[in-house]
Amino acid sequence: MIKKILVANRGEIAIRVMRSCREMGIKSVAVYSEADRTSMHVRFADEAYFIGPSPSNESYLVIDKIIDAAKSCGADAIHPGYGFLSENAEFSDRCKKEGIVFIGPTSYAINTMGDKITARKKMQKASVPVVPGTTKPLKDLKDAVETIRKIGLPVMVKASAGGGGKGMRLVMKEEDIISSVTAAKSEAKSAFGNDAVYVEKYINSPHHIEFQVLCDNHGNAVHLFERECSVQRRHQKVVEETPSPIMTPQVREEMGAHAVAAAKAVDYSGAGTIEFIVDDDLNYYFLEMNTRLQVEHPITERVVGVDLVKEQIKIADNMVLELKQEELSQKGHAIEVRIYAEDPDNNFMPNPGTIKHITEPLGLGVRHDGYVYEGYKIPMDYDPMISKLICWAPSRNEAIDRMKRALYAYKITGIKTSIPFLHRIMDVPDFKEGKYNTHFIQDNAEYLDARQNAKQKVKDIACIAAFVDYLSKIGSNAIKVEDDCKKEKPWKQFGRKISINRL
Ligand code: ADP
Ligand code: ADP
Ligand code: MG
Repeated sequence: MIKKILVANRGEIAIRVMRSCREMGIKSVAVYSEADRTSMHVRFADEAYFIGPSPSNESYLVIDKIIDAAKSCGADAIHPGYGFLSENAEFSDRCKKEGIVFIGPTSYAINTMGDKITARKKMQKASVPVVPGTTKPLKDLKDAVETIRKIGLPVMVKASAGGGGKGMRLVMKEEDIISSVTAAKSEAKSAFGNDAVYVEKYINSPHHIEFQVLCDNHGNAVHLFERECSVQRRHQKVVEETPSPIMTPQVREEMGAHAVAAAKAVDYSGAGTIEFIVDDDLNYYFLEMNTRLQVEHPITERVVGVDLVKEQIKIADNMVLELKQEELSQKGHAIEVRIYAEDPDNNFMPNPGTIKHITEPLGLGVRHDGYVYEGYKIPMDYDPMISKLICWAPSRNEAIDRMKRALYAYKITGIKTSIPFLHRIMDVPDFKEGKYNTHFIQDNAEYLDARQNAKQKVKDIACIAAFVDYLSKIGSNAIKVEDDCKKEKPWKQFGRKISINRL
């Protein structure tokens, strides 16, 4: 029976995990680096252990330090969150060896799914459709040119060890093959220490749709439906929603069954996500499996009504999954936006700093998973995501309205955040209509650009001002300028005091 869990992570996800621990009567233990002495997750836990300098490769990524902390405090399990050691097979094995429960899958499942080429082979065997392409790493540049010619442009060159959108290059033209393959390889080498790359056919205007799965250690597995994650920037998710606006009940059932088959093919245990790439005709292909809790898991929790962290803990504790596929359903609509400490109007440059003021959005249907507080200095050393805002409503339109209301109420000063950008996304007609794919941000760049927005507003105001001026010149009584404001500057008059009657 698990009684104490060490959370080998930081920030919002560490707090998220601790909340479920508290509800289950399980003690939680935080670990923290130098930069995180003042982090909220440290205060939130029942106990906290210092694990070293700020760079994550000297603290959060050092297996020995995490294991030592777990032993010192007598934790019987470790929850890795997402990122850091969550998809590290060696860590899963090491926990097992030390007699500590790893809240996640075995090293076999992590290794098989963590390497994209191995995963593709495994999925083909399990009859799960994969993106057409190769299942061998490219040998050299000559092999690259020949292989890509055979598959036919455009293609995606991808790092086998890839993750977080790194080591991936879209190749449209023959003359770009060599430079793209070289770039993908060098990026993969520096990010993952492994430069193996392979080729996938490029799926045009694709949608990214993923399925949540839960599998126990007794052969039971269910899926908890889909999440639409096509609003992406640099192949990273920005907005997620469920249900997907393009899904049909029949395709949902088929994809769900394939997701369960994919997880079963690696004897999966715990919570995991099968990512698919989907074309406009709803043909879908396995992209990869994330063998951990996903950043966007709360939208599934809200719509399906399941606490995924509690399920993870119960599964790790060898309990039998109580959820039955036929009893699960999606209720209403949930949207999540990721809030980053970055400047959307300056090429999304990271903008860490000290939070001067924060008002978190509240109210019906709003969930805010964050960790920053007034006076908190966001460290430069980690991912700049500071929180996630999740809104639920009975229908998609109402969920969008609710998200806009919550984003409006969300006030942070001291740092720049992506909040205004997210607000603009909610107003884009293609988003409102649910007609979007992974090119959404690029296709709506003009709409999403604050300066363009501002320009349009100035144009509108100038038009109205010219019209008002014209009316006053022709002596129309449609407009009445209040006497006491005639002394003020014209623009001020226009903005404040002019009342336009029956325009
Ligand atoms: P999700 O699929 O849950 O949206 P992401 O791919 O965005 O997950 O990654 C989740 C977290 O893990 C992020 O904080 C990201 O920075 C981190 N991450 C993902 N892949 C890598 C990687 N290869 N190297 C370092 N961090 C990564
Ligand atoms: P990562 O491990 O970095 O998350 P994924 O394989 O999950 O990489 O791909 C991330 C994103 O890149 C997808 O959501 C999609 O937008 C795009 N992508 C990946 N492969 C393809 C492809 N074959 N065709 C078109 N887009 C792709
Ligand atoms: Mg992915």
